[in-house]
Amino acid sequence: MIVRRRWTAAASTVILFSAVLSHPAPGTAAPADPAPPITVSATETAVVRVQLRDQAQLDRLVATGADLANRPRTRDGRILADLVLSGTQLADLTAQGATAIQIVQRAGDGSRNYAESVRAAQARTATGLRAPAGQRTATNTDTLHVQQAYWWTTTGQTFLQAQVATTATDDPDVEITVNWRTADGATGSFPLYRFEDSGEYQYHYALPQPVPGRPVQLTATSSLGGVSRAITPTLWPNATPPPVPVGYQKDFIDAYLTPVDIQSRIKRLARQYRDLVDVIDLPNKTQGYRRTAAAYLGDPAVAAVVVDSVRFGDQGMNGVQVRTVDPGRPNRPLTVGYRDRVLTVSLATDTGGKTVSTTDEVAAAINARQPDRFRATVEDGSTGLPMPVAGPVRLDDGLQGTEVPARPWTVQALRLGVHRDGSRVGVLAYSQEHAREWATPLVTLEFAERMLANARTDPATRELLEQVDIFVIPTVNPDGANYSFNDFNFQRKNLVNHCTGPARDPKNRTSWGVDINRNYTVGSYFDGYVGASANCLSGNYAGTAELSEAESRNVIALAQDHPNIKFAMNVHSYGGYFMWPPGAYRADGRVTLPRPSIDESTLFLDSARRIVGAIAQERGTVTWPSQTGPVADVLYSAAGNSADQLYYELGIFAWDFEVGNDRWNPATGQWEGVGFQPPFDEAHGESQEYAGGLVELVRVARDYAVAQPAG
Ligand SMILES: [Zn+2]
Repeated sequence: MIVRRRWTAAASTVILFSAVLSHPAPGTAAPADPAPPITVSATETAVVRVQLRDQAQLDRLVATGADLANRPRTRDGRILADLVLSGTQLADLTAQGATAIQIVQRAGDGSRNYAESVRAAQARTATGLRAPAGQRTATNTDTLHVQQAYWWTTTGQTFLQAQVATTATDDPDVEITVNWRTADGATGSFPLYRFEDSGEYQYHYALPQPVPGRPVQLTATSSLGGVSRAITPTLWPNATPPPVPVGYQKDFIDAYLTPVDIQSRIKRLARQYRDLVDVIDLPNKTQGYRRTAAAYLGDPAVAAVVVDSVRFGDQGMNGVQVRTVDPGRPNRPLTVGYRDRVLTVSLATDTGGKTVSTTDEVAAAINARQPDRFRATVEDGSTGLPMPVAGPVRLDDGLQGTEVPARPWTVQALRLGVHRDGSRVGVLAYSQEHAREWATPLVTLEFAERMLANARTDPATRELLEQVDIFVIPTVNPDGANYSFNDFNFQRKNLVNHCTGPARDPKNRTSWGVDINRNYTVGSYFDGYVGASANCLSGNYAGTAELSEAESRNVIALAQDHPNIKFAMNVHSYGGYFMWPPGAYRADGRVTLPRPSIDESTLFLDSARRIVGAIAQERGTVTWPSQTGPVADVLYSAAGNSADQLYYELGIFAWDFEVGNDRWNPATGQWEGVGFQPPFDEAHGESQEYAGGLVELVRVARDYAVAQPAG
């Protein structure tokens, strides 16, 4: 009977799965030249760009702690989201009306792209316009306000992007159309879509649209009869960095880098550029690439107890055995003994000699008699069942990496500059708070080495290192990164498992850990802000308390110890965003952390345009104006993130990159996501362009320091 219960669940999943994926979604015309079908096997994990049925579906996903890789955005009036999910989860979503648009990345892509990279290396603002309720009547037209109208050209294609706000904020049916005219007289139009966040109307917008030439005029019209003024679209970002000097050295990245690789890169840079580099050991060692050792005692498909070690597997607990035995005599009590690395549970028997202990009794007995060595939990679904004679089974931490030291890890920062004494304005660049974002340490290390190598050959770089004190943390979360490279490539969080009870079941292994960029103290989950979770299995788990994790404490310690740091960049992937505070709001009324002053907002935006311009210099990648702005406006609310901490607590101008911009596919006329671990060529391109952005940030810091009144 128990067996049938399990089979029923498994079978229905499979049926649902194949039924959904073998037929086109309703309303999808079968293409003449069929694209490869979007299939993910039930147990595989992938990043999938999904068109959701409606806002309610998105809200449900967010409320249940879904692993959103990207900010949901609107296409054709529908919501697109990049989700990290299993085939089963995708099938469930599809059954509820969602449509898979693109497999951004499969689980196997990470290790393949890593291996290929190594092989190849060896061979060579929303303004909140609101109309009072009831103002709009059938005879009133609405008023349209163009908030943004920008154009740019990249790799020969010109794009136009616009945001328009209507005063009819409460009418979900208002349709807004943008009409454009180019310098050559070509005209065209495209629809905008309503964008709401946290239940509040923000504006109408569309993804960047291809246009045949430089647009010189734009007007918006609404289905209520509103017409905007004619606007001349502005060139974006309209900032050009200084030309790259002849002989400028770059391209120091030839493969993906694991934390072990990063350690040796740091060592090499310190040796090679002794006069310009300090290595700072950050004060809080991480847990290390370690986990407790666990096993199912019994069969989880029938009845089982999860036995977990208190200490880590590498601390003598891997290989410890656990078993239940039948004492073979009547009227015996339940006993627990531990000898020679074997935990033996002798089951209780009745007068007839039959074993009578339940799963709950066995778990309780282990916890009572061996609390210093073991933690036992009844497997989810096995409560109250007869405990079988089982084992011996071997406890194991399940970690696959063989070349990772299993000990607490010292996170390191590089400090670069001629004067590393606090007398110069400081810039902090830090990356890989999120383990799976493999391209991000490539960005910060390329940046560091560019500064060092060119300091000897390029007077302008030398001058920057005279004037600025640079701090770089290439990998904030090395334990999670080691896990991402060796065990589960979509790991986002660190390796500290705060789960208790059934959540410690080894089947949840890839969902444990704390989201470092939700573990800070400003605007945190613990303060009631949106975008983090108390569920230890959620991708956005905030931890047991603010700053519960060594990784987040390290970032803060470095910034606090060096009060000359005035600028910071938190490097993430992917999606192509450039953001700054506020990064969080409260759910009720969408009240954000305080907005920066007008002057500071101007500094944020003007600097961002300079940095976006520098990024574009490398291979023409233009970060969209709609994705440049405060985190809470352009991405999502991220309660307890580090940039907010640095800005509000320490007065640092703190930005975030999401490197890895969508690529325009002229064949399909669609923007396509690149994923966390793209083929190395793409990751390499990201490292080169965003390192250029960080160099421009150093110039921004230099210019800021020069402009400060003396004394
Ligand atoms: Zn991230």
